[in-house]
Amino acid sequence: MKLLIIEDEKQVADNLKEGLEQHNYTVDIAYDGKEGQQLAREYEYDIIILDLMLPDIDGEDLCRKLRDGGNKSFILMLTAKKQLDNIITGLDCGADDYLTKPFEFSELLARIRSLLRRSSKHKSNILGASDISLDTESEEVKIGGREVQLTRKEYMILEYLLRNKGQLISRNQLLEHAWDRNVDIFTNVVDTHIKNLRKKLGKSGNIIKTIYGSGYRILDE
Ligand code: CA
Repeated sequence: MKLLIIEDEKQVADNLKEGLEQHNYTVDIAYDGKEGQQLAREYEYDIIILDLMLPDIDGEDLCRKLRDGGNKSFILMLTAKKQLDNIITGLDCGADDYLTKPFEFSELLARIRSLLRRSSKHKSNILGASDISLDTESEEVKIGGREVQLTRKEYMILEYLLRNKGQLISRNQLLEHAWDRNVDIFTNVVDTHIKNLRKKLGKSGNIIKTIYGSGYRILDE
């Protein structure tokens, strides 16, 4: 799943990106509100992590602008402010959740999982199809209870397909949700990773169907 961090403190933003990438998320960063707004318009992020205190625009104003512009990403606000009033305004201007700095990284991860559960029909952290299961909390993928080692990219592709089980997912959608904005969209990078993923899933890899000319689908049995 792809996240956008809008945070002007470079060190904080870079550390968050690094940490989140280690947990199988794709992350873009905007170091100011203007760039954040532009990226949020251009790409379909699953979650936007928005710092409240930005130099060029107030996080609440930016949140309102994004919502007025029809942005449907989940917005998680980060702030050093603890006052109840800020929490209320933050939520009322369109944020879905709120986290006060300093926070434990494990809490941020739990809140991200919680937001992602809201968007899909999966209300638990375990996604699955046939004998394959993917646990978004332990980040383990198992076939019939036996763990399989996937690369981060393979994990992200499988996660996205499982979250959208039954739906046709285009290569562009996979590029949009599992790669950051630096990907060269003219390569056959998606097909290569799907091929490797299927190989690692063995017989169970058959659940990933290729829809010729369109994309991929995991059947909803
Ligand atoms: Ca800030």
